[in-house]
Amino acid sequence: MANFYCEYCGNKYSSVSSLTANSCSRHPLGSNKGKHKLYEGSEKSKYTCKYCGNGYSSISSLTANSCSRHPNGSNKGKHSPAL
Ligand SMILES: [Zn+2]
Ligand SMILES: [Zn+2]
Repeated sequence: MANFYCEYCGNKYSSVSSLTANSCSRHPLGSNKGKHKLYEGSEKSKYTCKYCGNGYSSISSLTANSCSRHPNGSNKGKHSPAL
């Protein structure tokens, strides 16, 4: 069965409809200010931040940390997984 992950927080869902029905605690506009967003990349053993290249073993650990090369400014946002 396929797993679907949120790009912002790494939460795992069994369907896209259940993923996008729920609020995201790591939404860029603020905690629970929006819904989860589908991560459109494939499931990987290691995820790389598209801004700085740091590698993490899961989307949730990647997006838990601030990014020194975030487009909004250094550490003004979280890492974001490359596809
Ligand atoms: Zn989320
Ligand atoms: Zn980063």
